[in-house]
Amino acid sequence: MNAALPEKIRTLVIVLGDQLDMESVALRGLDPAKDVIWMAEVAGESTYVWSSKIRTTLFVSAMRHFREALLEKGYPVLYTELGSKENKGELDKQLDASLEKYKPETIKYIEPGEHRLLKTISSVCKKNKIDFELLEDDHFLASHQDFETHAEGRKQLRMEFFYREIRKRYKVLIEDGKPVGGEWNFDSSNRQSFGKQGPELVPQRRSFKPDDITKTVIKIVNESFEDHPGDLENFNWPVTRKEALQALEDFIKDCLPNFGKHQDAMWTAEPFLNHSLISSSLNLKLLNPREVIKAAEKAYRDGKAPIESVEGFIRQILGWREYVRGIYWLYMPEYLDRNALSAQEALPDFYWTGETSMRCMNDCITQTMKYGYAHHIQRLMVTGLFSLMYGINPKEIHAWYLAVYVDAVEWVELPNTLGMSQYGDGGVTASKPYVATGKYIQRMSNYCSGCQYNPAESVGENACPFTTLYWDFLMRHENSLKKNNRMAMQLRNLNRLSEEKKDKIQDQAKRLRCNKI
Ligand code: FAD
Ligand code: SF4
Repeated sequence: MNAALPEKIRTLVIVLGDQLDMESVALRGLDPAKDVIWMAEVAGESTYVWSSKIRTTLFVSAMRHFREALLEKGYPVLYTELGSKENKGELDKQLDASLEKYKPETIKYIEPGEHRLLKTISSVCKKNKIDFELLEDDHFLASHQDFETHAEGRKQLRMEFFYREIRKRYKVLIEDGKPVGGEWNFDSSNRQSFGKQGPELVPQRRSFKPDDITKTVIKIVNESFEDHPGDLENFNWPVTRKEALQALEDFIKDCLPNFGKHQDAMWTAEPFLNHSLISSSLNLKLLNPREVIKAAEKAYRDGKAPIESVEGFIRQILGWREYVRGIYWLYMPEYLDRNALSAQEALPDFYWTGETSMRCMNDCITQTMKYGYAHHIQRLMVTGLFSLMYGINPKEIHAWYLAVYVDAVEWVELPNTLGMSQYGDGGVTASKPYVATGKYIQRMSNYCSGCQYNPAESVGENACPFTTLYWDFLMRHENSLKKNNRMAMQLRNLNRLSEEKKDKIQDQAKRLRCNKI
């Protein structure tokens, strides 16, 4: 039951779909007799990129569950549902209409996860001449100011230094001022493949059976976004805080002990392995990174998980997650237009269907469309690597990643895609382009054993497209890559190839691009 709206609204508090935290700074000190929470499901947020049905369902279902939780606590909520009569379809129009109608004295909102929305909301407030208070999101361990201070005067930003700084500040895995286990980073122990026998016992995942709210949302999404990618048959993502906490608990107990060793490994038809699957819960704010880090550290202190796994996991959250956020807000909005390698190819259609004879791409894309999920190495070293070497325009591949993953919010997706994966930011996020031949995929997975191509071959009928495109990439960018010491060995190997072989590789790469593979 919705509490009655006050006759005159003092503060309208905007809660966006990725701000579903009952402890959030925006909800502190609200007076239900005077203040109202505003939430809106708008189709525009699912169409400005071709958002997968899975992603839209997760956001809308989690929002509806959050509305229920707010109402239970007695907060008045002004909520617009998809398809309702009052729905204007776009966030700015919806907000504009509410401001016109209810004329609140002030607006309060936490900084959105996208620069685009930051601008949208402030423009609507300004147009309506309403005072607004923009709050910084204290869900994160590092503030914007922390990152700016860290970045100041540095020629190059590197995640590792920022990570150590934040770890020291919060005393995570630190004893007597030193890192537990004697090392800051156990990455070198965390890159093993499964070997020929494949993964042992992959933990069974809990089933989050869709309840009535989720079932209704699935129906609406299937009808309203019928032609969008993704399949809702397997929808199994946490949509409430309670479910997110269960997913975290399962991960710590069943997966964390083996998380580290095979963190980078891939295996056909095993989409989840020992990964946590908590990114969407973190990004929707159903989980707080502090509680996740604390739970992982406790598992180490209780002797339930080795340091390699625990440090490796904590580094992803306390290190990478905070670091990419810092980059996003430091460099936006111009960051979005960067294209350091002048990549101009269109996104091949098979990114939406998985219909390609490349087994690795087929497996990663098919699972993405089925679950809205792929783990980091599948994103970075399969779909991302292909795009980088093929030369897909960063804006097109960015729109794909933002559309297809359940955890996709621009502040985290863009630096990972444009920066880490595509080197489109010219080296701000990654120290060199992550390029490799098909042999990397062969080493880290079993994909190649069932593929018609051979990762050892770069020309001819059986040549692996990754291997062809790898050499072609080095040739196309040789001059700029020469300036990067970390590319020296790869360029030395390139120069061992005969001119005749180089010509054949370039011909083959051209044909790959023409035939769209
Ligand atoms: P785990 O492997 O279990 O890792 C634990 C947690 O660490 C994750 O839940 C996540 O919160 C965090 N994490 C791990 N790696 C990163 C990273 N590189 N950057 C930020 N956080 C990280 N992550 C997103 O949350 N949203 C995105 O839209 C997104 N887009 C990506 C696009 C590309 C091209 C690449 C290469 C990576 C992207 N990532 C993104 C990072 C990473 O792939 C996902 O966070 C991870 O795969 C989520 O699965 P998991 O929860 O099982 O993670
Ligand atoms: Fe992928 Fe090449 Fe291996 Fe085929 S041979 S699975 S295309 S890396």
